[in-house]
Amino acid sequence: MFKLPDLPYEYNALEPYIDEETMRIHHDKHHGAYVEKLNAALTDFPEFLGMDIYDLLKKLDSVPEQARVAVRNNGGGHANHSFFWEIMGNPSNDTGAVMGAGPKGALLTLVNDTFGSFEALQAKFGEAAAARFGSGWAWLVVKGGALSIVSTANQDSPWMSESVSGVHESTPILGIDVWEHAYYLKYQNKRPDYVTAWWNVVNWDEVEKRFAEAKG
Ligand code: MN
Repeated sequence: MFKLPDLPYEYNALEPYIDEETMRIHHDKHHGAYVEKLNAALTDFPEFLGMDIYDLLKKLDSVPEQARVAVRNNGGGHANHSFFWEIMGNPSNDTGAVMGAGPKGALLTLVNDTFGSFEALQAKFGEAAAARFGSGWAWLVVKGGALSIVSTANQDSPWMSESVSGVHESTPILGIDVWEHAYYLKYQNKRPDYVTAWWNVVNWDEVEKRFAEAKG
């Protein structure tokens, strides 16, 4: 069975940028429901229940057709949110990690080579987040050692094949949830304000770790 992971910090750790009530509802109710529905969809196909969630998304084609849409939506939701909690952190820095400061080292070099500057990356990423109509995600991904920014609808993600998600299959190192449930209590209709605030809680140590692994 898939399990809802605990948040790697307290519900109020991302204040004032992401409020405690949003985090409680988002993690316990929304992410919790994705996990429950994913397990329910795979009740008759237990061979998939022991898989790594990211491997399962890469192999959606192997899931029986009657469960595939539910696994795409709820397995996607489980993977995306598990990732999302991990690439954020407490901006007061009580974990020892540096939040909000931006990339450094090899990742900063590649950001500068690819986008011109970190500020240019933020602008392009913000445009992708704002332009996503309805619900979805914006991502910074690595493929073949190169960085790019993409966005996906609903709970689709770059871990899925391009025929499913519409974007090239690649490894996300940073991503933002732009479903209204991620920001509406605090930011209402002002998605760009949420995106701007969110940069303050990005855990760059975690992003850089994922970059180093993805670039392999
Ligand atoms: Mn969400």
